[in-house]
Amino acid sequence: MGLLLKHGNVITQNDNRDIINGDILIEEGNIINIASEIEPKGHDVYNFENLVIAPGFVQSHIHLCQTLFRNIADNLPLMEWLNNYILPLEAAHTKKSLQSAVQLGLAELLLGGTTCILDMGHSRYQEIIFQEMVYSGIRGASGMVMMDIGKSGSENKTDRVLVQTEELIGNWHKKENHRISYALAPRFIPSCSSKLLKGVKSLAEKYDLIIHSHASENQQEVALVKSQTGVSPVHYFVNTGLSEFTLSLAHCVWLTREEIDLLSKYNINVLHCPSANLKLGSGIAPIPEYLSKNINVSLGSDGAACNNNLDMFQEMRLSALIQKPFRGPDSLPAQKVFDMATLGGARSLNLSHQIGSLEVGKKADLVVFNFNKVHSIPADDIYSQIVYSGKSENIRHVMIDGIWQVYNQKLQKYEENEVIKKSWYYIYKMLDNLKISLT
Ligand SMILES: [Zn+2]
Repeated sequence: MGLLLKHGNVITQNDNRDIINGDILIEEGNIINIASEIEPKGHDVYNFENLVIAPGFVQSHIHLCQTLFRNIADNLPLMEWLNNYILPLEAAHTKKSLQSAVQLGLAELLLGGTTCILDMGHSRYQEIIFQEMVYSGIRGASGMVMMDIGKSGSENKTDRVLVQTEELIGNWHKKENHRISYALAPRFIPSCSSKLLKGVKSLAEKYDLIIHSHASENQQEVALVKSQTGVSPVHYFVNTGLSEFTLSLAHCVWLTREEIDLLSKYNINVLHCPSANLKLGSGIAPIPEYLSKNINVSLGSDGAACNNNLDMFQEMRLSALIQKPFRGPDSLPAQKVFDMATLGGARSLNLSHQIGSLEVGKKADLVVFNFNKVHSIPADDIYSQIVYSGKSENIRHVMIDGIWQVYNQKLQKYEENEVIKKSWYYIYKMLDNLKISLT
């Protein structure tokens, strides 16, 4: 048994970045063989002639719980956007509205070829996010967003946050044949006490977990961290000892030279979110400089509330384009961007031994592209075709753990119209309860 994908143009993302015309054999969710010709032996055979097969996208910074807040609080700077809209809306979620937000997000991610995510979760109903991640078939890590300072954190006292987190770790870490894992999620330094971060450190140590947070998104936040702690954000993460673990920090836009050296020294992962950084007017992270210092960079859409999509094609294209006016047209080539979207993401989740490339022994997490579209041809370079002219409509099939989760552009677990209908219902209900009206 197993699946045999034949005659595809395979972008392997192996160390040599080989692109081969050939077949992929998959058994029990793993890649067993890749070769120019593999004989079927009772396998389900798929003919992918004229199609491109590539590793699935890894989006390393997502807020599934914010997907219902798309197109609602636009044209605002970070702190105002966060304090006046996003935190109150997140806090107003019921289990049902959260489930609707998560389903909407997962549907968009899967249809766009994202096979793995690092999600910053919810402060009360985190189990709903895990339940939907399990059901949807997506791979990834999430974790209850941890806050014990500030308006929306005041009801969540430190000890309770840590106890709840440990319970969730017990229930969800390494579930579904390790497809689902737990990532500790202290929101950002201004919302976390030093006692809470100490607790994060002990949990990371006890359960061997990755830590997912935000750092240096805009200058106001950096000033706030300095006034609270006396040092800048990356310094503070290092001082707290969190950099001793896999530490993945979203944004890293406003770092000092010293902080950039700390990223390199402690192998801290940068989760680059170009759309969100531009839309909130936060700034442009110096990604070519990070890459030149061998700092791992991956990509994420952040939340639909500050993007307003969860589309990897937009993140790839923007991440390349925004560097070019200042650093030259060759500052971030398409192939490097595709590395960030696949291998970089795998590293940020500490999963590079399993995903990020199509190689024997790795998981069968892949996308099948159809580039026979008017917006995609002609093309001399496959990476340009993906990064500069690719769109979600190029994605024909999506496989995770050897299972088709999107086939012929149709979600296999969700009814798309149902997801849309539910989303409209719950966002109107939430806005009504909060007395916010759409203009
Ligand atoms: Zn974020």
